[in-house]
Amino acid sequence: MQLLDGKFVSEKLKQEIAAEAAGVLATKGRKPHLVAILVGNDGGSETYVASKMKNCEKVGFKSSLHRYDNSVTEEELLAKIEEINRDEDVDGLIVQLPLPKHIDPEKVTEKIDYKKDVDGFHPVNLGRMMRNLPCFIPATPYGIMMMLEEYKIETSGKHCVVVGRSNIVGSPMSILMARNAYPGNCTVTLTHSRTKDLKNVVASADIIVAAIGKKNFVTADMVKPGAVIIDVGINREVSETTKSGYKLYGDVDFDNVSEKASWITPVPGGVGLMTIVGLLKNTLASAKKEIYG
Ligand code: NDP
Repeated sequence: MQLLDGKFVSEKLKQEIAAEAAGVLATKGRKPHLVAILVGNDGGSETYVASKMKNCEKVGFKSSLHRYDNSVTEEELLAKIEEINRDEDVDGLIVQLPLPKHIDPEKVTEKIDYKKDVDGFHPVNLGRMMRNLPCFIPATPYGIMMMLEEYKIETSGKHCVVVGRSNIVGSPMSILMARNAYPGNCTVTLTHSRTKDLKNVVASADIIVAAIGKKNFVTADMVKPGAVIIDVGINREVSETTKSGYKLYGDVDFDNVSEKASWITPVPGGVGLMTIVGLLKNTLASAKKEIYG
């Protein structure tokens, strides 16, 4: 088994991004700028947003955070998005999910100017991705594709089984792995909670992408010897043995599955770090007007 090392790859790619960000500053007189909106105080969301902001600073981007408590109205939030859409100093805007129940995430996603939608969730970006046109690719799938590329993982003709069909991970991942490009050219099976005989479907995979949100869901008996394992899951559990007070687990039973896999991403230290790189790459591309002129 070999590790798909998110720490190593993300550090390397962030150095390249930092060099390009310096170029943007030199030519445009300003840094690439990412704005994040965070509503409420969900522990996971706090951590993700803090990490995104910290990484922006690391690569020489400007970052701004707008915080709201759970009582913010949908109107207030949409008005803020509108204001940021118009701000020429901003290249990328993300709204951390999940949002409180009284706010419609679809309305929020559609309100963001697709030219600043560096999370790649807007229907215009998803539609363009579907058609293989330049667009912002959702950050997690984008990060996974960079990881596969970095380790030159063979994908052509392979059977890729994606477990989970969310709009932000599973579904876009299935499209990217099936498209006529590298990484890609896979035969893809997209599975979910209604899939019959999931165990055997997953056991037939050359590449498994697990994006379910259930600790140790993919067990060794579901894995073909030599399979490539991409573990997207981030499951937080309270822990008395860690400084932060919690511990992270993937969707894959790493200890046992790693004995059968050819390549595997650890959690933490895998896909999560690459997601940040995806976000930074999209923000940089926006600042350089590479996608939407
Ligand atoms: P969602 O909850 O939106 O989707 C989960 C998917 O898993 C659904 O499609 C669901 O099926 C499917 N599922 C649930 N239970 C089963 C089951 N028993 N058998 C088969 N399929 C099942 O999750 P996300 O895609 O947003 O996230 C998935 C995981 O990835 C989470 O742990 C999340 O924290 C993590 N994540 C990690 C990121 C990173 O950067 N590493 C980024 C984003 C997410 P159905 O549609 O039928 O309900």
